[in-house]
Amino acid sequence: MANWEQNVRKVTPYVPGEQPAQSGIIKLNTNENPYPPAPGVAKALQELEAERLRLYPDPTASELTKALAARYGVNENQVFVGVGSDDVLALAFLTFFNGAEPILFPDITYSFYEVWANLYRIPYRCPPLDEHFCIRKEDYCQACGGIVLANPNAPTGLAADLSVIEEIVRSNPKVIVIVDEAYIDFGGTSAVSLIPSYENLLVVQTFSKSRSMAGMRIGYALGQPALIRYLQDVKYSFNSYTMDLSALKLGAAALADEAYFQQTLEKIIGTRERVKGALQELGFVCLDSQSNFIFAAHPVFSAAELFEALKRQQIYVRHFDRPRISDYLRITVGTEEEMERLLSFLRQLVQR
Ligand code: PMP
Repeated sequence: MANWEQNVRKVTPYVPGEQPAQSGIIKLNTNENPYPPAPGVAKALQELEAERLRLYPDPTASELTKALAARYGVNENQVFVGVGSDDVLALAFLTFFNGAEPILFPDITYSFYEVWANLYRIPYRCPPLDEHFCIRKEDYCQACGGIVLANPNAPTGLAADLSVIEEIVRSNPKVIVIVDEAYIDFGGTSAVSLIPSYENLLVVQTFSKSRSMAGMRIGYALGQPALIRYLQDVKYSFNSYTMDLSALKLGAAALADEAYFQQTLEKIIGTRERVKGALQELGFVCLDSQSNFIFAAHPVFSAAELFEALKRQQIYVRHFDRPRISDYLRITVGTEEEMERLLSFLRQLVQR
């Protein structure tokens, strides 16, 4: 090792799902929304003026923050926005997890948590989910440096009851509990309603899934004003202009169309339930997904084998070769047509 390498911050990075360049594939591997963003987003995009790009964007992201505050019934000083929820979560780890005690998150969850903990040298412990892939409340009601829970969880899609989340938040008044609600619009009950009661609760959501804007990179956190101020202090110590002009305009435009948002959710949830039933008919075991993906295992065909067979058909899903979940495929809910292509191939394969 060269001398200088001793001083390098060495990390094992998060590996995102594949983004294949070719067209014509059925992409069910990164939980994107198969439907376009609200029509007002396209209009706002057309109205963007190149001339405006001379100027820095509003560092307070006020247009988007105001729209989010109105949508969620909170004050503007309770909203923090970032470049996707990954950015918000990464800053929240940096801001809130500076104690000596380990932070807690489940053994099976969004694998980025471990990466941020390692990046920032935050000690952590991962209590195992129970045999049904549910969190055990007791594991999170003990001394720790903070807690991160994805609800619904990834990649299982299972949601914990709000009462469980509340008890965990209530039992940990000395540390921050982050609830990552990337998939909450597809099921489960949001913890946003608990914010007035708990100063240690930070709820993080995203435009990437339910609002069909993964490419625009918008995430946000909601919490009491003190938490938001601390997040802002760290953000302004890092990069003042995280949200570009287009994100501010297009994000606000997406929030303006609640009816479209609800229709899109209904379609995806309807497809999810239908596909789950069809997979079960083929012998798959499917967890009770409250998200825009289905976590499914087949008793005869291995997940690795199915993953490869589907890929040869240009159908991309996700397989995690990790302890306890290597038998499962995570299948994003696409359009009805896409899911029909998936099912008809699986029918042929399984019933051969
Ligand atoms: N949290 C969870 C649980 C996720 O699955 C994802 C998507 N990979 C994210 C956060 C981050 O999403 P984004 O940065 O696109 O908002």
